[in-house]
Amino acid sequence: MTATAPTESLGQPTPPLPAGSVADLRAMISGGVFGAGDGDYDASRAIWNGMIDRRPALIVRCVSVGDVQTTVAFAAAHDRSVTVRGGGHGVAGTSLTDGGIVCDLSGLKDVTVDVSERLVRADGGCTLGDLDKATQAHGLAVPVGVVTATGVAGLTLSGGMGWLRHRHGLTCDNLITVDIVTADGSVTTATNDSHPELLWAARGGGGVPGVVTAFTFRAHRFGPQVQLLFVMYPGETAVRVLRDVDAFLKASPRDIAPVVVLGFVPAIDDIAERWHGAPMAIVAAAAPDGDVGAAEVEALRTLAEPIADFSRPTTYCEAQSWLDDDYPSGDNYYWKSLGFDSLDHAVDDIVRWAREAPSRRSTVDVWFNHGAILDVAAEESAYGPRSRYLVNMEATWDRDELNEPHVQWARDGWAALAPASNGTTYLNFPGLFEEGDDLRRAAHGSNNHNRLTALRRAMDPQGRFA
Ligand SMILES: Cc1cc2nc3c(=O)[nH]c(=O)nc-3n(C[C@H](O)[C@H](O)[C@H](O)COP(=O)(O)OP(=O)(O)OC[C@H]3O[C@@H](n4cnc5c(N)ncnc54)[C@H](O)[C@@H]3O)c2cc1C
Repeated sequence: MTATAPTESLGQPTPPLPAGSVADLRAMISGGVFGAGDGDYDASRAIWNGMIDRRPALIVRCVSVGDVQTTVAFAAAHDRSVTVRGGGHGVAGTSLTDGGIVCDLSGLKDVTVDVSERLVRADGGCTLGDLDKATQAHGLAVPVGVVTATGVAGLTLSGGMGWLRHRHGLTCDNLITVDIVTADGSVTTATNDSHPELLWAARGGGGVPGVVTAFTFRAHRFGPQVQLLFVMYPGETAVRVLRDVDAFLKASPRDIAPVVVLGFVPAIDDIAERWHGAPMAIVAAAAPDGDVGAAEVEALRTLAEPIADFSRPTTYCEAQSWLDDDYPSGDNYYWKSLGFDSLDHAVDDIVRWAREAPSRRSTVDVWFNHGAILDVAAEESAYGPRSRYLVNMEATWDRDELNEPHVQWARDGWAALAPASNGTTYLNFPGLFEEGDDLRRAAHGSNNHNRLTALRRAMDPQGRFA
């Protein structure tokens, strides 16, 4: 085992950390410390997106707030940047930097539910699955995303869209407080009354100048029984399906919040072989149990003759994990998104780009945003302007030699769709963050972006948090 750091950072030499200081750090951390010479180093720097191959100086697995404070102090003493790993599912891989210190929160996973107040406190390393399991035991849900291995932290700090967004908004709209270890190593609790600017930033601002060790959310009655909508229509109906879903939601904007996935039929036993590989349009959602939800599912599962229909009554937890297997860890991913005020002039192009995907696992996903998600004004939270539609180019593949055509397809489709969009983007679907600050400005709007920059400069003058 060696205590020295890697010698390269983005092609620039980084001075090794003094061996003695790393030994001292190990002695103070209750979790674990992994450097380049350690057997577990490669496993601990592996994240969901196989495209990302970065070599931090150290990965510090924290199991307490004290561990986080020690890690931040260590980084300051050795003039290293700090990144935070929540669930490790950030698509651009921003939880890792070459030569920096990673504060890995995967050992901080407690969830506490206050049933009478409907408040939920989740540690910074929780996944959506951890949160759903704890809340559903009481028939409650916090609105989160739709794949259970995703981290609560990254999802919330950049927004958080899921099946409940039309009823209860984004995840960050339901955020009540955050506990943050800031650049000076102290712990701050941000609420509407105390450090309100910091709470405002945590509501979708794309990260905070510090490490969030715990989030408190407002929860809502939802589940445990729900109605899963998951119907697969033939590709030739895709334009009509998109228009029909749109018309349906304009009339019924608050109960059901579907996503339309344009892709290719997977070769699975449950679907007749003649369809395998054919273009398709999936309409998916989780609707409330009861007559209203049932009627809405029925309306959206009968838009055309389906290829297959997996819609059924089920539990909220099963609906939340329905898509999990489609996103295995270690495959390569590149996702890039655009906001739209109207789909009228974009529908044909969206369907065309989906057909031109370089692999059968890549999709173009259309998120319809109505109801509660649109109730919050652009400057009320750092998230910024809300778009009625979000289109995400999702390139997915599993061999490095296919990187170029996949990334290019997503970029070309994004550029072709951009003129009909409103120019906004979603930071949780950020490509590889290649546009840097321009991407942040496009997501948050200029006023919010300037406010976030000022907060960051005031709280993290050294730019410690990458
Ligand atoms: C399979 C899959 C499905 C998805 N589905 C959805 C969906 O349905 N809806 C949706 O809105 N988004 C979705 N996303 C996007 C997802 O919300 C983002 O990728 C999110 O960043 C993941 O959070 P994480 O904690 O796992 O990521 P990480 O990679 O751990 O972190 C992402 C960023 O947040 C920072 N960060 C993480 N934790 C903390 C913390 N505690 N304190 C301060 N900073 C922190 C990191 O430094 C990094 O910059 C999905 C992503 C994947 C991979």
